[in-house]
Amino acid sequence: MTKKIPVVEKILGANETLAEKNRAVLDEHGVYAINLMASPGAGKTSLIEQTLPKLAERYRIAVIDGDIATSIDADRAAEAGADIAVQVNTGGNCHLDAVMLQKGMEEIDFTKINLLLVENVGNLVCPANFVLGTHKSVLVASVPEGDDKPYKYPGMYRGVDALIINKIDLLPYIPFKMDYFRKGVEVLNAELVTFPISCATGEGVDEWVNWIIAEVEANKK
Ligand code: MG
Ligand code: ZN
Repeated sequence: MTKKIPVVEKILGANETLAEKNRAVLDEHGVYAINLMASPGAGKTSLIEQTLPKLAERYRIAVIDGDIATSIDADRAAEAGADIAVQVNTGGNCHLDAVMLQKGMEEIDFTKINLLLVENVGNLVCPANFVLGTHKSVLVASVPEGDDKPYKYPGMYRGVDALIINKIDLLPYIPFKMDYFRKGVEVLNAELVTFPISCATGEGVDEWVNWIIAEVEANKK
């Protein structure tokens, strides 16, 4: 009898093994890592720009930016004060996987870093399937995307540890029902920590930053 393992399972299994190696490298150096995921335009890079200056006194921070092309986002992270910003171009691939993160991590001297922020490729589908080895996964949703996204992309909402609802300054102008959105999230992930924020006005950013600090400090113990 021939046993067939679907190719997708093999790929994900190999990815998980490599993700564990990435985690081991991070833990060896006491570096805490967050994987930021979102659809294109939700505001991952803007969030990083808002976050870095508020953590600059406390931590040395590396940013790895995954993008299909260009180094625009890594350049913005460097400009915003990242101690090191690495661009990983996925060559058309619509998500980061553990191999690509490993390649990015090779560019970083982790003896000089406390925190690693990973900006995944903008996509609400496959990044959820590829663990990277980071400690936490965070989803950046945004008001203009619509309040139906938890219902349409359950895999993404189910797998994350924290949720940012960005662009809340646009709530008066967009038919986004927060109750409907939150109800959809709660069914999938009742424990999800949620931060409504605006990268444009700065509202809510401190709460998010305080969460990161609490996470980094808890990881030291
Ligand atoms: Mg970006
Ligand atoms: Zn993909």
